[in-house]
Amino acid sequence: MDFRIGQGYDVHALAEGLPMWLGGVRIPSETGFVAHSDGDVALHALCDALLGALAIGDIGHLFPDTDDRWKGVDSKELLAAVLARPEFEGWQVVNADITIALQAPKLAPHIAEMRRTIAGIMGVGVDRVSVKATTTERLGFVGRKEGCEVWAIVLIERK
Ligand code: MG
Repeated sequence: MDFRIGQGYDVHALAEGLPMWLGGVRIPSETGFVAHSDGDVALHALCDALLGALAIGDIGHLFPDTDDRWKGVDSKELLAAVLARPEFEGWQVVNADITIALQAPKLAPHIAEMRRTIAGIMGVGVDRVSVKATTTERLGFVGRKEGCEVWAIVLIERK
């Protein structure tokens, strides 16, 4: 059996009047993420975890923010593009676990849809995708509602 594990981390700043996309889902919010893409910090961390599992770089390298092709891009397309890379031929996702640190809004009502969306793109059952949300008890930049922080871990297996 051949397994690989990868971890990813990402942060985006919050600003008023921008759309908030997290885990491939539009979240009703008065603030959203400052980014070159749609700012989906959860999918970015997941992309980096996948790239890390095969040691093939990071999304900043793959989709540079100096390239207008990726301006405003739907991060679901970035995740699909990562998985479509030739290096992923012959590999399948075993499971993924994502932790989102955000002070507000509450993400609980959206977790199920995030899991369905991510599982659909990765071609695995929803039971293999975990999305967890936490606040930071008002501490730090997350607690001050200045940004969002996400950690992702993924295990892949050679088919
Ligand atoms: Mg990012």
